Amino acid sequence: MSWEENVRKTVPYVPGEQPKIENIIKLNTNENPYPPAPGVQKALEELKEGYDILRKYPAPACDILEEVLSDYYGLPREQLFVGVGSDDVLSMAFLAFFHGEKPVLFPDITYSFYDVWAEVYGIPYKTVPLTGEFEINADDYDIPNGGIVIANPNAPTGIAKPGEWMDEFISRHRDVVVIVDEAYVDFGGETCIPLIEKYDNLLVTQTFSKSRSLAGLRIGMAFGSRKLIGYLKDVKFSVNSYTMNTPSLVLGRESVLDEAYFREKVDAVIKTREWTKKELKELGFTMTESSTNFLFVSHPQKNAEEIMKRLRDEGIIVRHFKKPRIDNYLRISIGTDEEMKKLVSVLKNIL
Ligand code: PMP
Repeated sequence: MSWEENVRKTVPYVPGEQPKIENIIKLNTNENPYPPAPGVQKALEELKEGYDILRKYPAPACDILEEVLSDYYGLPREQLFVGVGSDDVLSMAFLAFFHGEKPVLFPDITYSFYDVWAEVYGIPYKTVPLTGEFEINADDYDIPNGGIVIANPNAPTGIAKPGEWMDEFISRHRDVVVIVDEAYVDFGGETCIPLIEKYDNLLVTQTFSKSRSLAGLRIGMAFGSRKLIGYLKDVKFSVNSYTMNTPSLVLGRESVLDEAYFREKVDAVIKTREWTKKELKELGFTMTESSTNFLFVSHPQKNAEEIMKRLRDEGIIVRHFKKPRIDNYLRISIGTDEEMKKLVSVLKNIL
């Protein structure tokens, strides 16, 4: 017998590339092109002076951040959860809420971490195909299941379902936990947070990585009923009490305090997205209706992978998924106006 027989073998999620090349236009992982709020920068300077805080453990209950989020969302802390990016929050939620025998359901085309978590935790799951237009058909979920995960807006399609649709959908699934992943909601989706009062089995997750320009800090959060969040916190404290480091708690708080800056930058991204959409349509691209900070595009005459490679040669990196149904699509993050102008001009040459 070899020691390797006892090893858990997993096929990991493959994150988008973080290339070390200088001067590239990076449109492959949906980061925000603008810097975080000025208060974050200021707090970072102050952290350098008070670096003794690093000697001590962080507050396990993440008080600094939870308190400000509690004010911001008007929710008691018992209905809030924070973690190391929404990846951490979602992974804990899978561990906490999907402990049954029936399959957990999520779309065939969605965030490609869901099946990885299901595999690593040994959770049975089943993917439900999106329609030909990449839409979720609610009726397809009316089958025995042990939970449901919906990204809204969905990724990489960018398509959002309205709040009313979500309300009706969740009302059909009261006997399992429904997770709504709202990583991109600030760019045009409708949040399901108000629905947590109505449905005690609903968990909504969000992130500081996109709309708050803090992907490097790793902050994610979840909202739900007291009962649901209680179970989630129990799992967290059974795995790692100190998930969040002190600098992340302090800097994340500053971001939440600057609402004007947050709105201004989200609006800037949306405006650039709409401009880019128009330009790409003029170049013959077809695309889904995006409510996010990225576009999901395809060109009827030119192969997506080839476009991706040609863009790369010109110093522009976009995401291509070598997967059934979407291998002729590109996911292009929205950068600054300047970056998108460059993208459009390079695409003109390629085509
Ligand atoms: N959900 C979706 C749909 C995403 O695209 C991402 C970003 N990769 C995440 C969750 C996780 O983001 P983060 O861990 O940075 O919060």
